[in-house]
Amino acid sequence: MSYSLPISLLRQYCFCPRIPYFQELLKLNPPKPVWVKQGEDLHKGQEKIFKHRTLKRFNLVQAKQEFNVFVSAEELQLHGMVDSLLNSNEEIYPIEFKLNGHKPVKGQILQLTAYAMVAEYQYNLPCRQGFILFENKGKTHPIVFKLKNKEQVVIIRDQILNDLEKSYLPDSPATPAQCTQCEYLNHCNDRS
Ligand code: SF4
Repeated sequence: MSYSLPISLLRQYCFCPRIPYFQELLKLNPPKPVWVKQGEDLHKGQEKIFKHRTLKRFNLVQAKQEFNVFVSAEELQLHGMVDSLLNSNEEIYPIEFKLNGHKPVKGQILQLTAYAMVAEYQYNLPCRQGFILFENKGKTHPIVFKLKNKEQVVIIRDQILNDLEKSYLPDSPATPAQCTQCEYLNHCNDRS
């Protein structure tokens, strides 16, 4: 069986391409910042908000909804835990709940796209659209899965796999503002 990447690494790679090195190769497990814990607590409250507002709007009231669903596809070398999946028996819809934000950023969109690609394999159903919900705004963003984003998922997956295989710590374009909120700051000698 080939090595499989956690899908969350795609989003983290978009934040900083060094994170897979620390997380997967060095297996560092720094204490979680407080906002990560808040994010975990958030899910329970969001389940209700999502149900009431969005299922009606997208005509998905009859769809079966599951939470914290493990998905994996050996063919794609990707796996992960998606916050929620809606299954209408004809299509499948991944959902991610986020604590803060206004508009989905690239890393979040690619992460959701990767869940969609893997879920298509696992459930043998089409997955054309998903949702990202921001708790602070109480707003749900529908995300249509575009070909260019699926291609980007594969490019980034291959880049991470390549870096890991070579034990390569890439250069990082991360800004000082990003580094100060990064759990791996103590391990980056060229940052302070
Ligand atoms: S401290 Fe900065 S450069 Fe180092 S992993 Fe974090 S974001 Fe990247």
